[in-house]
Amino acid sequence: MYPRDGLDNWHSGKGLWADVPDKDWDNWVWQLQNRLTNLDQLTAYLTLTPEEHKGCLLANNKLALAITPFFFNLIDRDDPDCPIRKQIIPRVDEMTVSPDERLDPVGEDENSPTPGIVHRYPDRVLFLVTDRCASYCRYCTRSRMVSNAQDYNFHPAFEQGLQYIAEHKEVRDVLLSGGDPLLLSDRKLDYLLSRLRDIPHVEFIRIGSRIPIFLPQRITEGLQNVFRKHGPIWMSLHVNHPRECTLELQSACEKLTFAGVPLGNQSVLLGGVNDDTHTMRSLVHRLLMMRVRPYYLYQCDLITGSAHLRVDPRKGLEIIRDLRGHTSGYAVPQFVIDAPGGGGKVPINPEYVESISDNQITLRNFQGRLYHYPLNQSAASLCKEDFKGAFEEIIL
Ligand SMILES: *Cc1c(COP(=O)(O)O)cnc(C)c1O
Repeated sequence: MYPRDGLDNWHSGKGLWADVPDKDWDNWVWQLQNRLTNLDQLTAYLTLTPEEHKGCLLANNKLALAITPFFFNLIDRDDPDCPIRKQIIPRVDEMTVSPDERLDPVGEDENSPTPGIVHRYPDRVLFLVTDRCASYCRYCTRSRMVSNAQDYNFHPAFEQGLQYIAEHKEVRDVLLSGGDPLLLSDRKLDYLLSRLRDIPHVEFIRIGSRIPIFLPQRITEGLQNVFRKHGPIWMSLHVNHPRECTLELQSACEKLTFAGVPLGNQSVLLGGVNDDTHTMRSLVHRLLMMRVRPYYLYQCDLITGSAHLRVDPRKGLEIIRDLRGHTSGYAVPQFVIDAPGGGGKVPINPEYVESISDNQITLRNFQGRLYHYPLNQSAASLCKEDFKGAFEEIIL
């Protein structure tokens, strides 16, 4: 019996904004308008460490500071090491550039045939449709363009992107990302999805979004109708810590799945946030309880100023080893490193194949015990005969 996570509080509620009427609190535009975006607003609610204080002063030259009131409430204000806080409050360490770090760590710009499109894999493209997010993750792999703090001047170009996809018949899968595509109005999303659905070779459409976590109020009836109209639209969420699994997120996931949107989750392995088995097990269990299938666990990209959040990938392997076999297979994400310089996502796995010889493959199971599976015994033909007999027995 594994210990339960010991976190029984799934609720976040209005917290510090108890005086705000429900009709405002539940309104996604209100949440955006009332984001915490500067030092004064933060210090009104939170005692910052000197590292955070400096980080906030410098943030706007790197990646804007913005936190929705909803998400801010999830911070444990008495804990300077709070895993929520580490993800969104800038620290001065962000200004330190380590060797190997890059502004474009996975070489997206080199694989961009037209603004907003990244075409790295044979049959699918990444389509960046906005440079804005509801809140900004400090380890953002696209901090060069997102929030436009670095004068990168990325301007989403819907028509050029759509044209590229229409002209490339090999593209059967389009992944909308940014920025966060759910910041677009229902009308714009409806337009984009209609145009994509009009392209006969586009079979599969998905959206990468952290809005359900930062801004669950965005999952309105109108948005659900857009998904019903153009479905199936798949969605990858980005939840890193079990405390992000609020009742509000749970409800947003329910609305999305009931509108026909299959949900996956992509987490980033982050130091002091989720780099231990207990936290990750709790996270993946909670995701399943919300109908969300853990999809990827990412090694943090070598983005400029992220050294303080990155973890040795062997830690990730250890976590996967602790999960695989010990809990539901559905709960175990694929651990990947997006290869620096543009190699794409490479899966990395704990080793379960002990050895392969001419006559057997030796396996190590989740408990560390060794098992042998015979090879080269024309097993396939033997099996076929056996099955034939069995089938006749059943059918006749
Ligand atoms: C991650 C990514 C995709 C999608 O990869 P999947 O493994 O199919 O989820 C597509 N294009 C780019 C450029 C990506 O980084």
